[in-house]
Amino acid sequence: MALVEPKNTIEVLKDTGFSFKKSLGQNFLIDESVLRKIIDAACLTKDDCVLEIGPGIGTMTEALSEAAGRVIAVELDNRLIPILRENLAGRENVTVIQGDILRTDIRKLSEEFCGGKPFKAVANLPYSVTTPALLKLLDESAPILSATLMVQKEVAERMMADPGTKAYGALSLAVQYRAEISVAANVPRNCFIPRPEVDSQVVHLQCFSEPPVRTEDPELMFRLIRASFNERRKTLVNGLANGKIGYTKEEIARAVEALGKGEAVRGETLSLEDFARLADLFIRA
Ligand code: SAM
Repeated sequence: MALVEPKNTIEVLKDTGFSFKKSLGQNFLIDESVLRKIIDAACLTKDDCVLEIGPGIGTMTEALSEAAGRVIAVELDNRLIPILRENLAGRENVTVIQGDILRTDIRKLSEEFCGGKPFKAVANLPYSVTTPALLKLLDESAPILSATLMVQKEVAERMMADPGTKAYGALSLAVQYRAEISVAANVPRNCFIPRPEVDSQVVHLQCFSEPPVRTEDPELMFRLIRASFNERRKTLVNGLANGKIGYTKEEIARAVEALGKGEAVRGETLSLEDFARLADLFIRA
């Protein structure tokens, strides 16, 4: 049974008496063409191991199980676990795990269930934890090859934003340092039950094997990025000086001067390449 068909989702909800929890970002997909676009964008083969975050009642899990070799689905809401087990019964390549993705050791999952093979992550991400879940997938130590994610349209715009725009921020740089990003689908709110208050987009993140910019200290670069955007209205020098980055205001002023963009430059106008160069200027000063 294809759960993505609205009547089938409604039947499961009715039969099980399931009530949605807004705090868990529970908006279930009921549009088959969107589901198809997600599966196509994820480029799955039977050699792939998929990590699904938040399977809900198993709508995407069914399609992932057909397209991939293995599917590990992590769901926080324990009321959904028996529903998932019933809906996915007989699908030998699916493992459902009850847990919080933010507290899950992704490397351990890949070792335990996929012989250490990196995952392709696929998720209709719960709005409640979109940014931390995204940052977890983007962590350099996470064994992730790609991530195909349904997110709020506004989050997708922040992920893809260019320097100097309103949407540009630490999230844009975290994503663009780790992956090539593209939009796979625009998703209106009527594709979900219950209907969310915002539209969504499916984005595909293809992780780089090597970062697109080089810096001797990526950790310092991200400290600079976070400090700059914490006080985005301030000049770069003042933002960094207030950001407790471990350098004095004089050292900061010297590094910013060496960057050659003027002393009044703001962090929000710097590209990823500029931040990488700035981190190296601190190290070499
Ligand atoms: N994948 C299903 C679909 O597309 O119909 C459900 C998507 S729904 C937007 C998000 C799902 O994530 C819900 O099932 C919710 O219970 C689950 N969830 C919320 N927070 C979570 C967390 N921290 N870890 C794992 N799952 C979570």
